[in-house]
Amino acid sequence: MQRIYIPHLVKDLDQTRTIEVEDYLSDLDTLTPVKGRIRIQHRGNFLDVAVQAETITTLTCHRCLQNYNTRIQVDTSEFIWLQEPLTEQHAEEVEVSLEDLVETLSPQGHFEPAKWLYEQLCLAMPQRQLCDQACEGIANPLATDSGDAPTDQRWAALSSLKQQLSE
Ligand SMILES: [Zn+2]
Repeated sequence: MQRIYIPHLVKDLDQTRTIEVEDYLSDLDTLTPVKGRIRIQHRGNFLDVAVQAETITTLTCHRCLQNYNTRIQVDTSEFIWLQEPLTEQHAEEVEVSLEDLVETLSPQGHFEPAKWLYEQLCLAMPQRQLCDQACEGIANPLATDSGDAPTDQRWAALSSLKQQLSE
């Protein structure tokens, strides 16, 4: 995926560029290419970027630690403000506000679709990774079939003695 020189977007029809994606992303380990579409619209002082994409990746179950394959889908959009980065002197004068946390790019800079798409896919990764909602987790090697059997050897001896006495 080529990076896009932002001023070129203004010359596109409707100031909009659509990118068909069917690519492996260099930083994202996926089983299938990331497939979908990114639409970038230049709207004067900001870019309106939208994506619909999906891929299949291998995750590790948080309960049983087995690997499993899952589909990751994104259907999202974001505004990216176009403004020249503040000089150091300016930054000191301007109070840090919520707006400063919003992503910004220089209006004369580049938009990198692959990097942006990578970030969106990372955000779409499930927080709770389970191979199955009913995953039982790692089998406990100390657990026995009887379920309520004591694991302490002394209790085991005692309970077999008790059994002998009652026979
Ligand atoms: Zn599991």
